[in-house]
Amino acid sequence: MGKKAHQSDYSWGRAVVIGGGYAGLVAARALADHFEEVVVLERDPVDRDTGVHPSAPQGYHAHAMLAKGAEVLEGFFPGLRAELRDQGAPVFDYGERMSFRLPDGFAPRDRTGVEIQSFTRDGIERSLRRRVLARPEVRLLSATKCEGLLVPKPGTVEGVVYRTDGAADSEELTADLVVDASGRSSPLDAWLEGMGVDVPEKVVVKAKITYTSMNFHRPPDGAPGFDIAYQMTFAPHVPRGGVLLAVENDRWTCSLFGFDDQLPPTDDEGYLDFAKGLTNPHLAEQVERRTEQEQVHRYTNVNNQWRRYHRVKDWPERLIAIGDAVCVFNPVYGQGLTVAALEAQFLHRTLARHKGRGAGLAGLSRTYQRGLARIVLAPWTLSVNSDLMWNPAGQPFAARAAHWYNTRLFAVCLRDPAVWARFVRVANMVAPPTVLFHPTVVAKVLGEALSRRRGGRRT
Ligand SMILES: Cc1cc2nc3c(=O)[nH]c(=O)nc-3n(C[C@H](O)[C@H](O)[C@H](O)COP(=O)(O)OP(=O)(O)OC[C@H]3O[C@@H](n4cnc5c(N)ncnc54)[C@H](O)[C@@H]3O)c2cc1C
Repeated sequence: MGKKAHQSDYSWGRAVVIGGGYAGLVAARALADHFEEVVVLERDPVDRDTGVHPSAPQGYHAHAMLAKGAEVLEGFFPGLRAELRDQGAPVFDYGERMSFRLPDGFAPRDRTGVEIQSFTRDGIERSLRRRVLARPEVRLLSATKCEGLLVPKPGTVEGVVYRTDGAADSEELTADLVVDASGRSSPLDAWLEGMGVDVPEKVVVKAKITYTSMNFHRPPDGAPGFDIAYQMTFAPHVPRGGVLLAVENDRWTCSLFGFDDQLPPTDDEGYLDFAKGLTNPHLAEQVERRTEQEQVHRYTNVNNQWRRYHRVKDWPERLIAIGDAVCVFNPVYGQGLTVAALEAQFLHRTLARHKGRGAGLAGLSRTYQRGLARIVLAPWTLSVNSDLMWNPAGQPFAARAAHWYNTRLFAVCLRDPAVWARFVRVANMVAPPTVLFHPTVVAKVLGEALSRRRGGRRT
């Protein structure tokens, strides 16, 4: 293991991934096509059948996969959707089988052409881990914490220092490329500063959302006409929301969430009362029907956070960062998994391009972080603009304008399935946000604004 890997720019010997969570696994899949060996370091004791694990406690909460994310994953892991469907994870049209409560009413239940699948985070991570570890190039070092980077000469990372649980000493592992996928608490900023790299302050936008979640049996006779029931939070008047997902093994996953002091309780009665307080009644209906349940889980640290590594001028060679280690989104918008999948896809393409040009790995890491920033920008803007509007006074014009537009757009969606379908495509990242500014949509939004003005409504 301690043997020095190839050192030339043109050798693609070993990649090391720090973190064997979701982004680490998808990144390992991308790397496996380009490196002889991919070593994944995961600090939790996991094996190929592990789903949720202690250091990724968000895994107990509802995880929606956007259509774009599912498409990218299917490209990396052909047959994944069918595998999850065989376990009971439904595949359905977003409009037809989703009871979606917008701020002022329910979205149309018409076909949108956007197909999605609902499953647990446990289920998807289990499938991905099994498939990634089945690749002969990939090796998992479980219960192994990365403690630092190997930087024998300034400006280039040449591996990692790690320690396995119970081992007396740390060990070194050389690598041609190191990928940090260690999630929202990544120590990378400190490691970079230790190398003398000037790292900009991370941007944090408070989301102040608390999740409380439970899983319970989904009765086969209960066919309630939907596979997802959702109520969005929306500043400033809808501080409580929730999502109920039909998932594999005849289960529901229910996550209730609230802004600021609207904490969904963890006790049975309080949980049901909170659900009953939502204007989408389907969540409470199913929570009330449950006969048994698993443990209740709460998650409170869901701020938006962006480490702007693309701005680091002296970003080291042979090091990249991916997933929540770079950017964390308020989870109510369901973007993290899809963005990480897109980042892994971009990694695959960037490696292929460098290889095709015979360019080796020189310059790749900086190019990659800049490209990743372009992937992150639109979902970040959506998430942050919406969250800023809980306290609208003094917020940037762009955030206020976006909120003004969205408020009216959602009102149009209630009675216009075509506009709703456009929104669904954008929300699922299968169409660019510009389709919501097509002249026909803008005209409808302005018409809505006019009628609100006449009716005296100003939100
Ligand atoms: C409550 C909640 C609900 C969410 N819902 C959704 C949703 O509906 N849809 C969606 O798309 N996204 C959702 N997200 C976001 C999603 O969970 C994250 O975007 C995703 O987990 C990011 O994956 P990651 O691999 O970057 O980080 P993580 O999943 O956190 O994995 C990081 C891994 O690194 C390991 N690690 C850390 N440090 C080290 C070290 N030093 N050495 C070795 N290993 C290390 C950890 O053990 C862990 O396994 C939600 C998040 C939360 C909190």
